[in-house]
Amino acid sequence: MIIVLKPGTPQAEITRISQEVDKLGLIPEKSVGKHKVVIGLVGDTAEFDPLNIQEISPFIDRVIRVEQPFKRTSLQFRYGEPSAVIVPTPNEVVIFGQNYPVVIISGPCSVENEQMIIETAHRVKAAGAQFLRGGAYKPRTSPYAFQGHGESALSLLAAARKATGLGIVTEVMDTADLEKVAEVADIIQIGARNMQNFSLLKKVGASCKPVLLKRGMSATIEEWLMAAEYILAAGNPNVILCERGIRTFDRQYTRNTLDLSVIPVLRSLTHLPIAIDPSHGTGVAKYVPAMAIAALATGCDSLMIEVHPNPAKALSDGPQSLTPDQFDELMHQIAVLSKAFDYRHPTDLRTVQDAVRQEQLSLTV
Ligand code: PEP
Ligand code: MN
Repeated sequence: MIIVLKPGTPQAEITRISQEVDKLGLIPEKSVGKHKVVIGLVGDTAEFDPLNIQEISPFIDRVIRVEQPFKRTSLQFRYGEPSAVIVPTPNEVVIFGQNYPVVIISGPCSVENEQMIIETAHRVKAAGAQFLRGGAYKPRTSPYAFQGHGESALSLLAAARKATGLGIVTEVMDTADLEKVAEVADIIQIGARNMQNFSLLKKVGASCKPVLLKRGMSATIEEWLMAAEYILAAGNPNVILCERGIRTFDRQYTRNTLDLSVIPVLRSLTHLPIAIDPSHGTGVAKYVPAMAIAALATGCDSLMIEVHPNPAKALSDGPQSLTPDQFDELMHQIAVLSKAFDYRHPTDLRTVQDAVRQEQLSLTV
């Protein structure tokens, strides 16, 4: 259930309404949108009548029941206001959200050695990426395949971060590694295979580190949103959803089917930002640019692209990795097309800073 407040409701009244909600045994969660202040009521609201809640204060505009099983994740919970995930990196404050420029995350599937990760970091930065991705702990189908260099790869990511100022996105597979990963990562990735690892979701939910939550390869949209709900319910609102392709019956030509229809579907269901990963989504480097552009046209908030200095020699996911030169070309197309698709209205710095302040307010209240 959510309480939508009338414009200009005094802070003292918001506090009083929250206290009343608390007395009913529900948890009040305030969010401040551009147009409305909303108080989400978390808990078992089934027995409460919205009309009785409405009587708590004349400043209450309306009380709405959130029908979906995902509550905090739902678009209704913020009364239609998209959320933004703010990530400070050494270079800049990057914002993922519908009213901000598309954020580019790129880099190799795995961190293989110092030279390749530093070289890739410099190249993707020069091309315009804001984040370097690279796996230290790799979820591989075969136990005999390269499993990632683990802790030593985390130090190499830290070195690449220092050398370039790029933010780092890297995957955590095990709750035992979370602390080490969080020291280096600006965004923690939960991979497709762990989307329903509920203890891991609760653990990343208990920190405030931004999380990139990949869609499980056979997960329904509702299961995916319920996984995000675990993270939000544990107290971390900084979740970015990442579509990476779903299992396909046609393994001959593509590795997965990239489900771009999730973009408009998610827009109608959730306020969370959406990233698209066309690399795992197709599994084939030559199909990546077309699908990246399609995702851009469909309105994604971020793209994750695998880039390797020598894909033929990659220890994992070489066939789907672009070379740095191919990535340069794609970034050029993205820059041109972003202007054509300029319904996103890239915001100027001042608006971004205002948004940061406003968002921090809503995240901390
Ligand atoms: C990856 O990002 O390299 C990865 C393993 O992704 P996914 O979990 O989507 O397979
Ligand atoms: Mn990969």
